[in-house]
Amino acid sequence: MKLRGEMLATIQQMCRDNLVLGTWGNVSVRDGENHFLITPSGMEYSQLTAEDLVRMDFGGSADGRWKPSSEWRLHAALFQGREDIGAIVHTHSVHATAFAVARMPVPAVVEDLVQVAGGSVDVAAYTMPGTEELAQNALQALGSKSAVLLASHGLVGVARTLPEALKVCQIVEKTAQAALLARLLGPVHELSDEDISAMRSFYLTSYGPEKREEEIE
Ligand SMILES: [Zn+2]
Repeated sequence: MKLRGEMLATIQQMCRDNLVLGTWGNVSVRDGENHFLITPSGMEYSQLTAEDLVRMDFGGSADGRWKPSSEWRLHAALFQGREDIGAIVHTHSVHATAFAVARMPVPAVVEDLVQVAGGSVDVAAYTMPGTEELAQNALQALGSKSAVLLASHGLVGVARTLPEALKVCQIVEKTAQAALLARLLGPVHELSDEDISAMRSFYLTSYGPEKREEEIE
């Protein structure tokens, strides 16, 4: 039940942050070796309970009373393609979607973005939602990073945990908004590959609260 509770908390925060409208967007978390929990298809997020979440395997067999999100193939492909992914949040937030519509990457212009996402957020080639082809395009465009845009659609954030995957979507959305505003002011400056890889490895290995040395027992 712990994972289901975390799923509900993530969904509620995603709604409070205006990252989705209506029943669009979806959330999943790995649950055992070949299974994951995913939001049901077409259900109002405010009504959702722990029992409504769908547990399914990578081949599409599902338990419970509801149909899984129509984007389950995308989630299954990412979990199968990248063993380090523990959770996935898919949103339709406005500024990230603007880049997805323009089919331009969100540039690597701020430090928190490159730490959590691993660099610019690239765009997966367009194809119809819900298809295996979209899932494979997303996996390919994601590479080893933590976020990918789906052309004319939205954003996918992946991470080790649900709170971290939500944070990826929040920071990509903030960066997309900041990059659009910055372009009104003048040219934007992308961070160097060297600085990006240093900040990314710092984030993956040592970022987070740390006790001061004298307090460690
Ligand atoms: Zn979507």
